[in-house]
Amino acid sequence: MNENTGGLDRFRMAAAFLVVAIHTSPLASYSALGDFILTRIIARLAVPFFLMTTGYFALGDYVFGKDPKRLHGAMKKTALLYFVSALIYLPLGLYAGHYEGLNFLSALKMLIFDGTFYHLWYLPAAVMGLGLIRLLGRRLPAAGLLGVSAALYAVGLLGDSYYGLIAETPASAIYDIIFTFTDFTRNGLFFAPLFLMLGAYARRTDIARPPLALALSLGAMTAEALTLRFLGCQRHDSMYIFLPFCTFALFDLLLSSNSRPSKRLRTVAAAVYIIHPWFIAVLPPAARLLYAGKLLEENSLPRYLAVCLLSLAAALIFTKLLPERQPPCRSWIELDMGALENNAAVLRSRLPEGCDLMPAVKADAYGHGAAAVAKRLNRLGVRSFCVATVEEGDELRRSGVRGEILVLGCAPPSRVALARRRRLTLTAADFEHAKRLAAAGKKIKVHLAVDTGMNRLGERAENFDRILSVFEMKNLRVTGLFTHLCASDGKDGASAEFTKAQAESFFELTEKLRGRGFRFKAHILNSGGAVNYPELGGDGARVGIALYGVMSTASATDSGCDGLIPVLSLKSEISLIKEVKNGENIGYGLSCRAERDMRLAVLPIGYADGLPRSLSNGAGSVIVGGEYAPIVGRVCMDQMMVDVTGVEAAPGDTAIIIGQSGDKRIRACDMAEAAGTISNEILSRLGKRLPRVTL
Ligand SMILES: *Cc1c(COP(=O)(O)O)cnc(C)c1O
Repeated sequence: MNENTGGLDRFRMAAAFLVVAIHTSPLASYSALGDFILTRIIARLAVPFFLMTTGYFALGDYVFGKDPKRLHGAMKKTALLYFVSALIYLPLGLYAGHYEGLNFLSALKMLIFDGTFYHLWYLPAAVMGLGLIRLLGRRLPAAGLLGVSAALYAVGLLGDSYYGLIAETPASAIYDIIFTFTDFTRNGLFFAPLFLMLGAYARRTDIARPPLALALSLGAMTAEALTLRFLGCQRHDSMYIFLPFCTFALFDLLLSSNSRPSKRLRTVAAAVYIIHPWFIAVLPPAARLLYAGKLLEENSLPRYLAVCLLSLAAALIFTKLLPERQPPCRSWIELDMGALENNAAVLRSRLPEGCDLMPAVKADAYGHGAAAVAKRLNRLGVRSFCVATVEEGDELRRSGVRGEILVLGCAPPSRVALARRRRLTLTAADFEHAKRLAAAGKKIKVHLAVDTGMNRLGERAENFDRILSVFEMKNLRVTGLFTHLCASDGKDGASAEFTKAQAESFFELTEKLRGRGFRFKAHILNSGGAVNYPELGGDGARVGIALYGVMSTASATDSGCDGLIPVLSLKSEISLIKEVKNGENIGYGLSCRAERDMRLAVLPIGYADGLPRSLSNGAGSVIVGGEYAPIVGRVCMDQMMVDVTGVEAAPGDTAIIIGQSGDKRIRACDMAEAAGTISNEILSRLGKRLPRVTL
């Protein structure tokens, strides 16, 4: 939901219609060559594309993180779809005599390899491909799995469009055996694994290749296919050398389209894929009944269009019958990813040359969703992130986040192994902690924290000998040195003086170490530093809160960050409206008595959703119908009441808890001020049960 996979969903529709084309040959009446190019070259992208999407969504966690949950889910779902589809085609198969003369072995062959109806081979192939990767993945790393899949594909090629190369050689005996199991090498295990793996890899790459890559690979595949056709090499025409390249380039292009995902399109496309052979079968007799049989027989294009339209209509009716996915209800978080990109650009432009963003995405990116945020920033070229724990870093890697991930917290030595496996960089929190990390016995990258006056983590800057010995510790590779500013939110005299002193003692230390020949990345800026003291520079800025579009306090937000836009809004749907009489009690603990007749809106959000209870009894407000509506009574665990007297409001209307409506706005820092805390706390404590909607 939080990714730009809308391009994939849109192309699924196109791919479904390309599959219909393969089965109806729309150009056959007009040009054999044209039909070959359309159905045996271009349309051949469709099924690999479907396989890649499965790999993209289901395989990454397992291939790169050994977490098989999604893979198992996809196998089950695909197997179930196969079962249902097989039932749907049972009558047609019986009528057409498909199952006549089947024995146990040939039934098995049909079920596992060829599919119980001609277009259904794809489903068992996908299940088997996933199963094979699941099995081999116990032993093999991602690259190994890719290698095996590519080798299988090569074997498949020689039984498909390159069959002519081996038809007259002894190798054909091997293929004779293969063809007793399956009609084509495209079925079963030779074809699907490679595209599934490419899908998993597509999740890891973030370099968008230009459309030229697709044009070139499609050109190459066309040349390849036409040559093979000319040479009469093909036994079947599903597999080409350039097909994986084309599919990958296409996928990449679709992913860079930045459009919103659509579950409906996904379902409609799948339904068209499953249902169209029914219409191919019933269209000719139906047309004859309507005296249009000749028209369809002689004109392949209207036949194709008729099958498409009928399948689409059936698919739409089918999806209408499905229970619709509910729009967000109760209370939810909205994320404006455009604002995130804006903020990254604004902060980058403030930082001096050579000082790169190292966004802090700890605590689930301050409640914004760490994986979605980090991956969006990956796409903008951000190559370094900060988290608080090894587990947070692990989670990011599993979602395919690339670049350096620095664990800022004091990681226990027991986590060194996991950190290594996930290529995380640890913080050496002081000399003693560094010793304990080194004693874990494995080589690990660290950034050494230096304390310049906060008295939290860090070896004291004045302990030069201890710092030096961390650089020389066996097993530690010190690639960074950093300190944390603790007064950079303020620009007042005392804060400025303190911050300057911190920076001086830090940079004095970096000079001295570099003088000894050590090379490392030095970073000092946090959000306050980046906004108020960007000139301090360094090689990186660990910005957190500013990236999300606010500063810790309202005054710092007002003075500090021109051009930053809040990324997160928090909204809620009014449950009901209640009329209350003058003098009546409202809420828990008799803490609030109505002093006039009032209209209340009950909102389904409470302190379990992260809304501070200290906002009770008028300390905080929300926005309803374009007006501020103060909280009345005490904030409850799951609900609260707000005063909407004189405001237009009805059950089902949206209340804005954090966000903007017209000229009224409540930023996280405004809510924080009302609650006596900072925006960082408000955002990072937003409750788990709030769904996130990406705009
Ligand atoms: C959390 C954290 C940051 C980010 O702080 P912001 O004020 O949100 O920018 C930077 N450095 C360290 C060490 C941190 O713990």
